[in-house]
Amino acid sequence: MTVSNIKRRVSGAKYVSKGGRGRACWIDVLGNAPCDMDQHSPTLGDAIKADVGSAAKQGGDMTIIIHGAAVATVDAHDTVIYDGAVAVEADRIVAVGSTRDVLARYPDAERTDGSGKAIMPGFANVHTHLHMTLARGIYEDLSPPHKPPFTSGLAPLPLPALEPEELRVFCQLGVLEAIRSGTTAILEDATGIETYVEDMAATGVRFLLTERAWDKAKGSIGDPAPFEVDRGLGERCLARIEALHARRHGMANGRIRIGVSAWAPDMCSPELLRDVRALQRQLDTVATIHLNQIWGEVAAVKAERGCLPTEYLDELGFLNERLIAAHCRCMEPQEERRLGQAKVTVSFNSAIAARRGLSPRIAELEGYGCRIAMGTDNMAEDMVEVVRTGLFMERVRRQDGRRPTPEQVHRWATVNGYQAMGIPDGGALIPGNKADLIVVDLNRAHLVPVLRVVSDYVHQGQGQDIEAVMVDGRWIMRGGAILTLDEERIVAEAQRLGKLAWRRLFESRRDLEVPAGFAPC
Ligand SMILES: [Zn+2]
Repeated sequence: MTVSNIKRRVSGAKYVSKGGRGRACWIDVLGNAPCDMDQHSPTLGDAIKADVGSAAKQGGDMTIIIHGAAVATVDAHDTVIYDGAVAVEADRIVAVGSTRDVLARYPDAERTDGSGKAIMPGFANVHTHLHMTLARGIYEDLSPPHKPPFTSGLAPLPLPALEPEELRVFCQLGVLEAIRSGTTAILEDATGIETYVEDMAATGVRFLLTERAWDKAKGSIGDPAPFEVDRGLGERCLARIEALHARRHGMANGRIRIGVSAWAPDMCSPELLRDVRALQRQLDTVATIHLNQIWGEVAAVKAERGCLPTEYLDELGFLNERLIAAHCRCMEPQEERRLGQAKVTVSFNSAIAARRGLSPRIAELEGYGCRIAMGTDNMAEDMVEVVRTGLFMERVRRQDGRRPTPEQVHRWATVNGYQAMGIPDGGALIPGNKADLIVVDLNRAHLVPVLRVVSDYVHQGQGQDIEAVMVDGRWIMRGGAILTLDEERIVAEAQRLGKLAWRRLFESRRDLEVPAGFAPC
């Protein structure tokens, strides 16, 4: 976090360095009410004090303890500790237990009162495209047909082209929403990630960035036209992946990692899929792909390759346990079985699936051996919504009012996502794990009485209940304020630039139909 960023977020406050062991504090503009870490323990509801905590901790050896909270660990036994505490040193959790025990073990720690709060692992969003925030309110209602004749692409409107500066704003906008909904790790699948990789690193969030490859010369996912290969296109994509990995993999103390992506089975030739798989092995990293996303894709692969999309990938050796397959909605049981045998992770993008009117068969995929994780996909980055929608959709699909349990869905969205992203020491509040966590205010009209905290939050919680987010032991949101991004500026810019971009599109393409209810530009 930079001081200038914090300063913008806490209006009327001044930053004062007091020297020595990273101690510093904020004073208000009147010069009174100083906060001093030596004198009292901060509460979570204070953004000013929050910065003090981070500054002190980043100075070196300080242990932070959040105590008096309901701790939902998401460990192997779904342990919940009421009146619990979590101790953090540097980027790691060092202790989880009762408040009494943890405070006794670390008598000199910086203490933060967590009474009335819950501490949970942060969410892992394993499938998103941040710049698609540009299509909010438009693409959600333009899904492709599920029956022939299939149309090309996922929406009848193209996404307006963006200048690099504009692209960066929409990616930052997506991260703002992600942090506010408790997300600590994101798999971003996109093209041209180099343009905004440094902005992503500056957000403080953990990322797996997967640069995308394809080599279909014309058309998009679900396009029924014949497959015409553009080998040069595929090679340029592979070169971009390699360059991004060489330059950026492991930056920000390993918080930024680079993976590989093939766009979708009907967008890639067999040669390219083999190349992407070979590159995955060479770089020793995670791969991702959109799989069985829409019925048009299934029809296109059947027509070109004479088999189903998952069979196509399996025959090429593309399926592996470090692959995250997004969607898996339009899938035959024999494909689900192959995915499970290869121990592929399925990204259950529940909210976009609900909007498209189709759900994957999660119980069956899990039963065959797939790991289930969760993603937002287009337009939204709200993992609280994704968790609840996933529970609702799967209960409706199974016609079962008890399963999946809230604990199961919470696990999909936390520790399973971390494991899928190649972070085995994350996603659960366990000593030794990465200190990626969220603090939830439970004193809310829609949450009390708090009797079973995981069920309570999965069924009733809202993003706005999340008041603090920590990644790698560093607060990136605290007291309801995002400390790493200038939220006010980004929101205002996104509104202005979004209108401009769509106006440019409609003015240059008079053939396009402007959606009903579109804001006048
Ligand atoms: Zn996607």
